[in-house]
Amino acid sequence: MGKPSLLLTQVLLLVAALAIVFHFFPLLCSGHTPEGQFQPLPAKSPILSQVKEGRDCEMPKTFLDSPIVPSGSFTWREALRGDEGIRWPPLLDVVEEIYKLARLMQPYRERSGIPWRVTSWYRTPEANKRAGGVPNSLHLWGAAVDFEPARNRNQVIEILSDWPGGFGIYPTHLHLDTGARARW
Ligand SMILES: [Zn+2]
Repeated sequence: MGKPSLLLTQVLLLVAALAIVFHFFPLLCSGHTPEGQFQPLPAKSPILSQVKEGRDCEMPKTFLDSPIVPSGSFTWREALRGDEGIRWPPLLDVVEEIYKLARLMQPYRERSGIPWRVTSWYRTPEANKRAGGVPNSLHLWGAAVDFEPARNRNQVIEILSDWPGGFGIYPTHLHLDTGARARW
């Protein structure tokens, strides 16, 4: 019985190995940074469901100081900058969310007529933890921004009164996102 049970063991090991490979294969195809490091992201907000998931993203690194929206006020550097350096988005979805938010913000920024100093936009899960963000924060998708107007804070808050997404007022900054309409 020695040989058949050895063969059986080998077959079972092969089956187990194949099961592991096929289970993890989708992770190998998506969700990794240009450096190949896998970064888990939280479940997406339902309002973002029109955006396709799982595509790789490699941003041209020379575009950092270009406006996100052509002739707009916000640059890719502002959206991707963190204390630890530039946060290269792992997925094209993040790039699309950043673009969507920048496009929505631009008319408000123009109405205010003054610079907005961006303090936090796209965050990696690690950066979000350090910032004390909620685990499903829209910052993880580049769909939320924290900023402080150069001056006239109350006037900017007034201009943003019809912002269609989430709008949070904090002592240190204003938060805007492309989620469902909410005020806090
Ligand atoms: Zn925020």
